[in-house]
Amino acid sequence: MNIEVNQFNGPCNCGREHRIEVKDIMISSRAAEALYESMKNGALSGYRRPMIICDENTKAAASGKLSKVWQLCAELVLSPVNLHADNHGVDRVHQAFGEMGAGADISGREGAGFLEKTGVSRADAGRQAGNAGGEPDLLLAVGSGTVHDLTRYIAHEKGIPFVSVPTAASVDGFVSTVAAMTWFGMKKTLPAVAPAYVYADTDIFSRAPWRLTASGVSDLLGKYVALADWRIVHEVTGEYICERICLMEEDAMEAVCQCMDGLKAGEADAYEKLMYALLLSGLAMQMIGNSRPASCAEHHVSHLWEMEVINDHVDALHGEKVSIGTVLNIGLYKRIAAAIRAGKCRVKPYGGLELELLKQTFGTKGLYDATMEENTPDPMLQVDPERLAEKLPRIAGIIEALPSEQEIVELLRRGDCVYDVKQIGLTEEIIPLTMRLSPYVRNRLSFNRIRKMLEY
Ligand SMILES: [Zn+2]
Ligand SMILES: [Zn+2]
Repeated sequence: MNIEVNQFNGPCNCGREHRIEVKDIMISSRAAEALYESMKNGALSGYRRPMIICDENTKAAASGKLSKVWQLCAELVLSPVNLHADNHGVDRVHQAFGEMGAGADISGREGAGFLEKTGVSRADAGRQAGNAGGEPDLLLAVGSGTVHDLTRYIAHEKGIPFVSVPTAASVDGFVSTVAAMTWFGMKKTLPAVAPAYVYADTDIFSRAPWRLTASGVSDLLGKYVALADWRIVHEVTGEYICERICLMEEDAMEAVCQCMDGLKAGEADAYEKLMYALLLSGLAMQMIGNSRPASCAEHHVSHLWEMEVINDHVDALHGEKVSIGTVLNIGLYKRIAAAIRAGKCRVKPYGGLELELLKQTFGTKGLYDATMEENTPDPMLQVDPERLAEKLPRIAGIIEALPSEQEIVELLRRGDCVYDVKQIGLTEEIIPLTMRLSPYVRNRLSFNRIRKMLEY
């Protein structure tokens, strides 16, 4: 299937004009062939120095089906060991660019001291003829989330386009315009570019390890919390919202709920629906240029754990941490909604940033200043206590529309997804501090943050 991206372009009832940067999206078992055609004779044929960025695992998964594409490209094969979307990962890609830019025959040459290899395949030497010594003019991200975040960041930095070739239906960020990176220990959303094209080949991504697919399902189910947060904040502060974008996210969640059994049965059609849903969620972000529709309190939990300020390294995938964040926030929100309905929730004066706590936690990792910077201005200053009190019944209504904690856990279980801290090596003791601290990782208002003004 193709996603007709132009339908999302143009003026909208929300008062804004939405703009989609990705030109075309193809989800099909013919995608690898179509990409080759485009590079050989189509829209991508003008690029002389295309380079694939992948890691050893994603190369193994994709280079067979993409063999003809591979022959047209230089390759940067990153070692998957400790590969993250962070400043170290970017350094590794920079080094490879440096080697290509240095000219000479770089075929198969090993980077000094690096496991990674860069190389130009010789099979289509003609393409590179006369161009040796130039940096890549087109990047192909062949991988899942990390490879995409690194590629989109570098493509933005170098001012060149990139093509997305997802090797697993594992995250919704393939078409995102921003890169979620850990930058010197701090989780940041850095400016980047969306792919010009997405070629998602079903034969590749449907054969990814189940854990990756489950992570994609989890990332999508997190939208329950993200959308509730957006709607609540819109009520409380008047923050911009687009109902059409909310509906796109809801369609994506609906699609994933419907395809769950098919996924487990290994049906290609179900995998295509999941990939479609993930890309739709990514397009929703692209429409407003940030991750507001797809990421809030549930992602903050994931980001906090990735910063390792109250826990050791957690060996879990993005979606796995997000799904636990989803369960924890839904449970909390439901309890507050019940308190509102029982007349037991009242607004209290805002106490400001919890400076002591931030020092004792982020401070021990040298992240106090960066955290303060992230929280300036304090987003809570937009919350007017009177308006918040007035909106409590509306907030309860938004939360009541969400599935219950049990229902979410049940959905996640059905997909063999993670839903409990113990499954990723944490203990329940970490939950209260996680919920108190996670809103500070981003300057984005969530209901979990607003609750700092609530007594219940
Ligand atoms: Zn809109
Ligand atoms: Zn996500």
